[in-house]
Amino acid sequence: MSINIHPIGNIQTPYKEKFAIPRQPGLAKSAIGEITFSKEFNDPNYLRGIEQFSHVWLLFHFHQTAEKGHSPLVRPPRLGGNQKQGVFATRSTFRPNSIGMSVVEFAEVSYKNKQLVLAVQGVDLLDGTPILDIKPYVPYADSQPQALGGIAQHEPELMTVIFSKQAREQLDQLTSRYPRLKSLISEVLSQDPRPAYHQNSHSDKSYGMTLYDLNIQWRVINQQNVVDTIQKI
Ligand code: SAH
Repeated sequence: MSINIHPIGNIQTPYKEKFAIPRQPGLAKSAIGEITFSKEFNDPNYLRGIEQFSHVWLLFHFHQTAEKGHSPLVRPPRLGGNQKQGVFATRSTFRPNSIGMSVVEFAEVSYKNKQLVLAVQGVDLLDGTPILDIKPYVPYADSQPQALGGIAQHEPELMTVIFSKQAREQLDQLTSRYPRLKSLISEVLSQDPRPAYHQNSHSDKSYGMTLYDLNIQWRVINQQNVVDTIQKI
């Protein structure tokens, strides 16, 4: 049997590449996503009542990795990338049907120039990700405070993030356009996006990531992330 699924829209996010996207939603609260709807769903009736909920579930297609297929075992970054676990026991992107799910915070619904936009906060989705469905988060059923989280029981430990003088000056130029840029960079880098095999290295290698149309360069010095430059691409 095959099932045809048609996305209801797409999400625009600051994350232009997979590298450095936090592993789960809510870890970078300043990452705002804006969902725009395809013609059929560009109708405010579809969202009527959604503002009563503080959080919503997004179901989406891992479109960038879907073609790579899946295997029964994956190497979760939480295990340092060198131990395997069954794909259904992980949140890996490389999975059958390539469906992702994220709880995000509701921000606002707007309707501008006949385009319906649902803004949400704390996304972990790549820019342009196709959205398959949206459902309200229902705390009494969806929240399980006693639940065991296996390899992901706790939030990852946070790293300190500091900005060089040059980066602070560059931020000043950019804050009118991206008011939450400093928090976003701090939240993303505090998750330590380096590949697991770099995490014990002591080199002062420079790393780069893209947020919006900006290239951000940083180094790890004494276990702290030091942002060196923030430049337009
Ligand atoms: N919360 C989701 C995603 C967890 S995996 C779930 O549990 O299903 C999170 C990773 O998904 C991010 O680090 C990012 O690298 C990756 N990702 C986000 N959007 C993607 C997309 N459209 N295609 C492929 N990978 C994506």
